[in-house]
Amino acid sequence: MRKSLSLLLLTCIAMPMASAGASRPAPKKVEIAPGVYVFMTAPYGAVGLDGNSIVVTSNDGVLVFDSNGTPAAAAAVLAEIRAMTQQPVRYVVHSHWHWDHWYGAQVYTKAFPGVKIVAHEKTKAMMAGPAIAFNKPGLDSQLPDYIRSIEKRISAGEAASTPPADLPALREALADARFFLDQKTSVTHTAPSVTFKDRLDITLGDRQVQILNFGRAVTPGDAVMYLPKERVLATGDLIVNPITFALSSYPTEWVQALDKLDALPADVIVTGHGEPLRDKQLLQATRDVFRELLTLGKTSHAKGLDADQAVAAAMTTLQPLMVRITGDVPARNNAFRSQLVDWYMHRVYEELAGPLSDEIAPIPQHTPTPQSTVDELLAADRAFAAAAAKTTVVPALSAMFADDVVMPTPTAGFARSKDKAIEALNTNPDNLQGRLEWTPVRGGVSADGLHGFTFGYMTLTRPDNTRIPVKYLSYWVKRGGAWRVAVYKRARAEQSPPTRDVLAPSLPAQLVPPTTDAAVIARHKESLEAAEKAFSDLAQKVGVGAAFVANGRPDAANMGAPTEPMFTLGNDKIGAAVAGPGSPTDSAAIAWAADEGSIVASSGDLGVTFGFIRPHKPQAGRPAANPFITVWRRDGPNAPWRYIAE
Ligand SMILES: [Zn+2]
Repeated sequence: MRKSLSLLLLTCIAMPMASAGASRPAPKKVEIAPGVYVFMTAPYGAVGLDGNSIVVTSNDGVLVFDSNGTPAAAAAVLAEIRAMTQQPVRYVVHSHWHWDHWYGAQVYTKAFPGVKIVAHEKTKAMMAGPAIAFNKPGLDSQLPDYIRSIEKRISAGEAASTPPADLPALREALADARFFLDQKTSVTHTAPSVTFKDRLDITLGDRQVQILNFGRAVTPGDAVMYLPKERVLATGDLIVNPITFALSSYPTEWVQALDKLDALPADVIVTGHGEPLRDKQLLQATRDVFRELLTLGKTSHAKGLDADQAVAAAMTTLQPLMVRITGDVPARNNAFRSQLVDWYMHRVYEELAGPLSDEIAPIPQHTPTPQSTVDELLAADRAFAAAAAKTTVVPALSAMFADDVVMPTPTAGFARSKDKAIEALNTNPDNLQGRLEWTPVRGGVSADGLHGFTFGYMTLTRPDNTRIPVKYLSYWVKRGGAWRVAVYKRARAEQSPPTRDVLAPSLPAQLVPPTTDAAVIARHKESLEAAEKAFSDLAQKVGVGAAFVANGRPDAANMGAPTEPMFTLGNDKIGAAVAGPGSPTDSAAIAWAADEGSIVASSGDLGVTFGFIRPHKPQAGRPAANPFITVWRRDGPNAPWRYIAE
């Protein structure tokens, strides 16, 4: 009586914590051969990715290959097993030491006291200490810090007069993170009771199960499972669908292991994560990438490049192979670079320095460079473009806008906030019903790494499938680690551009630490707005064309007239285009100023002005002022400002 009461109390107390778990979806079940199933568990929000669990049933017991990353996930799989068979689970085999493949083991030992827990002998050694130490900082500080930061954002959001739109998403993220932390801190680490070295053959009723090791691959003691009769191969994390993670791996031996996997006759390959595969394409493509990286790594090393430079060089060579794996989906391309190429290449370099130990290598840390910063910015722009494919124009654009975005509008001059920008966009039916796709063709960043610009080409597609070519220019700021658009302009073109070829980025010589010194930033702003005024003043004396030549960079881009399908490139061409034939060379018909303001990077080398162009003699039926935005660059805080994109 006493016992059941305390159990009941425990259950009650645990209720609020468990609510996220209770609402978690059941694992996805796919039968890959008669009586053989893979269970795919949904991620824990943004904080954790669970591994695949494979269940082999037989007329004499059940074998489970990988027991998930949390007791809750394992319990959900066990509930499915019990719904299918009366047979007990006799074996739980763990593919490797990563938490997401074995932290659910306690569920099986509790339910089946006689169950054998199998792993490679080196994996048993990892599980006895290093694996747990590797996860400790995440559980002790990173995850709790993350939870506190979301709690803070939620209470700030709840206190605000208008609650932010992302409040429900934040609450969901908090529930996921709390549930995940609660789960991971409730794990009883369950050591393997049976180990093997090269091979372990298990007879499970009428089935033959081979547990194999082909040398060190993703970890020192990987186990793969092969069912020769059923032609099923379970690779653990030797392959992940779609992108394999190569942290702390063993490059040369891994390629050899994949060759051996490739030689096994298999109709179904179950990877450590993701949907099961029905052919060997991904296995072979991943192996080809690894083999290429081994060669490229050796060449780059011999040339004296460091591992990060080797990664950059490899990305160009690997482009066609990458697309085979990623389908050129931007988020996958990013994962391919960071989790596969970058991590693998660092291990190639470590291997070149001498034989690799069985110790866990830390995640490679990177010092950002101008190139890596602009790569990140372009990736952000492409990611928003990819997300835009799933929605209409207004949510697509507003998702990337900063709260204080500045955007010229056809009627009101400038919208000066996200809400006003949305209001302005909503007045156009094309924005309400149409869809956008876009590609940036150039990016640039400031030396403090916190400001940047991109421009490129869009297509707006109306519900009736009419396609309208559009050019765009975005000025970005990075706040709280995320790139958002601070100033934005789109303009229609009459024709699509013949190419969307990417131009070399506009980069500072090196990155410098940002400053928050308001006086320094104010001085930069003042000099930029003065440059805009001097530009207009010069036009009054030498004509618009000559002023545009004098104030522009040789690599400047101008959005150009609607009749131009592409951006006009180069200050000389821009000068000729804006002046037009017969334009006066001693005066100008227009003047302009940054009368709406400017934003400047704290490094004082990149900024954007926004204001109005005003004709000296307003014409009937024409607006008295036209809004403009201009992005400026200078080579240093004392060099002259020159426009680079407008
Ligand atoms: Zn995994």
